[in-house]
Amino acid sequence: MNSYPPIRMLIDGAWIEAPGQPVINPASGLAIGTVPHAQAHHLDAALAAAAKGFATWRRTAPAERARVMLRAVALVRERVEEIAHDITLEQGKPLAQSRAEILRGCDLIEWDATEARRLYGRIVPAEPGMRHTVIREPVGVVAAFTPWNFPLSSPARKVGGALAAGCAIILKASEETPAGAMHLAQAFLDAGLPPGAFNLVFGDPAFISQHLITHPVIRLVTFTGSTAVGKHLAALAGAHMKPVIMELGGHAPVIICEDADPRAAALASVKAKLNNAGQVCVAPTRFFVHAAIHDEFVAAFGELGANVKLGDGMAADSDIGPVANARRLHSLKQLTDDAVSKGARLLCGGAPRDGHGFYFPFTILADVPAHALAMHEEPFGPLCLVTRVHSLDEAIAQANSLPFGLAGYAFTESARNARRLGDELEVGNLAINHFVSAVSETPFGGVKDSGYGREGGTEGLECYTHAKSISHLTA
Ligand code: NAD
Repeated sequence: MNSYPPIRMLIDGAWIEAPGQPVINPASGLAIGTVPHAQAHHLDAALAAAAKGFATWRRTAPAERARVMLRAVALVRERVEEIAHDITLEQGKPLAQSRAEILRGCDLIEWDATEARRLYGRIVPAEPGMRHTVIREPVGVVAAFTPWNFPLSSPARKVGGALAAGCAIILKASEETPAGAMHLAQAFLDAGLPPGAFNLVFGDPAFISQHLITHPVIRLVTFTGSTAVGKHLAALAGAHMKPVIMELGGHAPVIICEDADPRAAALASVKAKLNNAGQVCVAPTRFFVHAAIHDEFVAAFGELGANVKLGDGMAADSDIGPVANARRLHSLKQLTDDAVSKGARLLCGGAPRDGHGFYFPFTILADVPAHALAMHEEPFGPLCLVTRVHSLDEAIAQANSLPFGLAGYAFTESARNARRLGDELEVGNLAINHFVSAVSETPFGGVKDSGYGREGGTEGLECYTHAKSISHLTA
């Protein structure tokens, strides 16, 4: 099975074709399809449809909204093999990871769907005859922008939150990996979502974001992608007084304390970094390892890293696939060469594979100096940077030294260390002794240049609502 579906846009419940740009398979570097580009009239049609869809969907009872959403999720689960195949073709990750991404996306939507039934307001105590009530209302039509690294689960986060809260959504998914979002939209259509409640478009990102964000129908902007683009979109939204949810870049520190088991930490680190070949905003990247266990950690890390199998995502034995596009390949090579030229020690990997496709091996650098570019720029690929530290103070100071603050990780058996890490690391999500930075039930998002607003958890759902206070004097 090597077919790739025709990519279309969904506007007002109808699939729309238009000329566009090729979709490239990163395993071969060859075109596998075409993604349409929305013109102004498509976007205006999507805005009108979303306004109409919102009017219907906001008045649909939460229990019924949940039923429609759960039906859509059930359809995605039934179609997991077909969707995983298309995601691996367009994005490159191994099939098992594509399946895992789809199921994670399903879980996110399921949680939102069922939690929406508990979007309670509150009644505030007041003087006799007065009643203050606070209710949560859907914010309106949402403009959502998702990147190429998670073609289904990134859209799922935004679609789940928006629809659960009673909003309508116009999703501009990635032109580089459009099939995941298209399958998601198809499942909602098949599940009976009112036309216009979920519209899907593709095209020139700058043109679409400018058109949508400045339009009065749009009441909230949510973006996942780079900090540079996020700042631009947040400024645009700010000029039009629209709230934003920004899930931006990270450069996650991993602090390995002297009381941790170095081999177990190395094993867990390699496994975590395999996910999406490190093209994840929460990917563990800067490893600050206590001098007492540094050499043992580095020996195990290097050995395990050298055994990571790089190959076509369609092959059952590939641990990581190609990176998603040529931009990543060049950037990873440049960051690696720069670090080595400044004194870093290459433990494994280091150079793109010759031939077709965008293949970059699992790469570990030790003794990376603080002024290496990779220590500041998010590598967004299978690149790990190890630094020796002599105290927890030093590790925390280095971890906090960047403008990013998305995920952080630590390995320690000490309650005192764990408390300090929880209190002092400047991140939105911290995982201790494992690498799962967020689950559906907990909020996910960053601090500092990694963004603001949350997805997931009750905090995430609330971002798609506003609080209305009703004060009623009855006597
Ligand atoms: P990029 O900055 O060119 O694009 C990032 C994303 O923003 C893409 O999805 C792109 O389509 C979109 N985009 C760009 N300009 C836009 C605009 N004017 N309006 C709306 N959307 C726009 O970077 P890239 O080469 O695609 O990815 C590289 C960097 O992006 C990575 O190093 C990483 O920092 C970041 N990134 C982060 C995430 C994440 O999950 N937070 C995901 C993908 C990429």
